[in-house]
Amino acid sequence: MIGDRYSRQILFPEIGKNGQEKLLNSRVLIVGCGALGASHSEMLSRAGIGNLKIVDRDFVEFTNLQRQTLFKESDAAERLPKAVAAKTRISEINSDVQVEAIVADVNHSNVEQLLTDVDLVLDGTDNFQVRYLLNDACVKVGKTWIYGAAVSSYGTTMTIIPGETACLRCIFEEMPDAGSSPTCDTAGVIMPIIATVSAVQVAEALKILVGDLGSLHRSLMQFDLWQNDWRKIKLSNPNPDCRTCGEHVFDFLDAESPEFSAVLCGRNAVQISPPTPTTIDLPGFRSRIAYLSDVKQNEYLIRFTIDENEITLFRDGRAIVKGTDDVAVARSLYARYVGA
Ligand SMILES: [Zn+2]
Repeated sequence: MIGDRYSRQILFPEIGKNGQEKLLNSRVLIVGCGALGASHSEMLSRAGIGNLKIVDRDFVEFTNLQRQTLFKESDAAERLPKAVAAKTRISEINSDVQVEAIVADVNHSNVEQLLTDVDLVLDGTDNFQVRYLLNDACVKVGKTWIYGAAVSSYGTTMTIIPGETACLRCIFEEMPDAGSSPTCDTAGVIMPIIATVSAVQVAEALKILVGDLGSLHRSLMQFDLWQNDWRKIKLSNPNPDCRTCGEHVFDFLDAESPEFSAVLCGRNAVQISPPTPTTIDLPGFRSRIAYLSDVKQNEYLIRFTIDENEITLFRDGRAIVKGTDDVAVARSLYARYVGA
């Protein structure tokens, strides 16, 4: 039975029968089940990873279907949580895989708990706030995680083994300021870059799970599929001066940041504050959302509408999201359009 389904993977000598047994007994956490996470989920379930834990805070929307391979029109019509829709689809692809679907916002209060019983973590998120948090948590408990990001036709990935390789903060010391980076909701994204980044991430995951650490790429890999530009920058050892893996100061994990988001009582609105002080370039931001029809701006703020939500972004990076009292929905909109 195992021989049948996985025979082509077992024929691949770097995996073999022993490797397949290891995969069947593995447990992987996928943080974020958007485009990258959906792709990880599908590849890992087909490969026979025994246990998948999938965490996501969003619902399936029609705009996802162009690139988020696990989801169907009916998922979007029903606005199903992505983690739930992914679990259903995986049960149809490989019913032997145990999937735990968790509909939640990953934050400093739950991230360590999510990591406890997994062998490996895959980054399927769309924002730096969660990535720096994941980096803190994984370095703290010594768990390997595989960073991945994709926007437009550009993507990047690196594999972080705490204590052995550089961590995210060794390479990118400070998180990009809110509103300074393009997001998939402002710059767009094409499916092939999702497939590229997720394929490299999953290949790394398979190597780690079967114990072939010698074959890891040990680089910061960068791809631009439209510009035909592929780069592989060799990673150095961990930086002893890195705040996270050198000094073991976990700024993102230890941040007492409940004020990062707050429900505005009685107003059907949530306020989101940027994790670090920032100044938004409002004209620059406006040009990135120029395709939206309903945008109003003055020198202090910019206001735009996404479906039933009206988002007001202030120059200090603070935003008020009207039309919801759900912090996860508001944080998701903030990450997608402002980009923190
Ligand atoms: Zn580091």
